[in-house]
Amino acid sequence: MSVLSLSKLNVSYKSSQGKIQIIDELELQVNSGEIVALFGPSGGGKSTVLKAIAGLLDNVSGDIIIGGKQALGINSRGNTSINIATEDRKIGLIFQDYALFPHLTVAQNVAFGLDKLSRSARKAKVDSLLELIKMVEYSDRYPHELSGGQQQRIAIVRALACEPELLLFDESFSNIDPQFRFELISDIRALLKQHNIAALFVTHNQDEAFAFCDRIAVLNKGKIEQIDCPERLFNYPQTRFVAEFLGQGLWLRCKVASANVLLSELGEISYAGDKDLFSSMSLKVEGEVDVYIRPHQLKLTLSNDFPIVVTNERFAGEFYESQVQWLGQVIVVKTQNSFLNQSVKIEINTAVWSVFPVVKSPI
Ligand code: ADP
Ligand code: MG
Repeated sequence: MSVLSLSKLNVSYKSSQGKIQIIDELELQVNSGEIVALFGPSGGGKSTVLKAIAGLLDNVSGDIIIGGKQALGINSRGNTSINIATEDRKIGLIFQDYALFPHLTVAQNVAFGLDKLSRSARKAKVDSLLELIKMVEYSDRYPHELSGGQQQRIAIVRALACEPELLLFDESFSNIDPQFRFELISDIRALLKQHNIAALFVTHNQDEAFAFCDRIAVLNKGKIEQIDCPERLFNYPQTRFVAEFLGQGLWLRCKVASANVLLSELGEISYAGDKDLFSSMSLKVEGEVDVYIRPHQLKLTLSNDFPIVVTNERFAGEFYESQVQWLGQVIVVKTQNSFLNQSVKIEINTAVWSVFPVVKSPI
């Protein structure tokens, strides 16, 4: 069952030049207990989608259904438009800056939305929520006495206190020290999974999206380009934008030699990835395609026959990033050794690559 369903969502802002459309006919579903990322470049409209779901914007049209209840749209008889207020949408919002009330203690912050409960029920609920994040002993502290990670844990359980159908996270981990960030992400993921809570997580950070989410929707210029689990998104990008946004790589123009073999400037490459996906591309033998190869899928060996020199390198601890200039592109290869200023041969070290139709350059 879907906890969130967005259909034909359009959002625009008014400016001095008139209306600017930011989100264009967006479709998205988040299933029960699922954590989905809305991932894309800055300015792509991610926070706008989140604010529209939360009911914080004017100029939103389309259908928003949260927990089976229409939050925006037309009623089932088709005669009344519905636009439920933010506080009635059963969502919990968690922002980047924790947004705790500075003058309230941890316990008072968590209890904030629980004024309908009796005093004792409220205390029991706050204790059980703090127990979930192992912070009961911090009940009487104030936000400024906590680390960023602790404040964010409190912000999350405060959002959980009202038993929302859906949690909405906007770049919520980006202010946490990198050293603790992935520990926090993994704890919060475990907490949500344990309690079967669905979430939509807005981020421009790929590592965070991969660590936190079951599926990732790539948002570019107001449209979702692809939605898939992290592994499929990385290995089988469906558009050039998704391929490039998920990491640098080398574009290689190839000739189709046979059903699963291509000829490139780096030699023959044969495909051993998802056969159905590959055959759906109906490659024409003798035709041309573009293949995208990532740095870890290339290999360098010392060679004087292939006149390429490593002109630059970056030591990254567990590997080197060696750079070579070739066919007008700067190619990055992950290597175990330093090849700086040496002549090398480049080889393709994978049988799973992404292939795209050749884009004709504009005349
Ligand atoms: P993201 O979260 O992906 O970085 P946003 O949703 O914040 O992107 O913004 C998408 C676009 O909408 C940007 O071009 C931004 O400048 C514009 N925008 C955001 N908020 C407003 C606003 N209140 N009024 C006008 N334009 C806005
Ligand atoms: Mg944003």
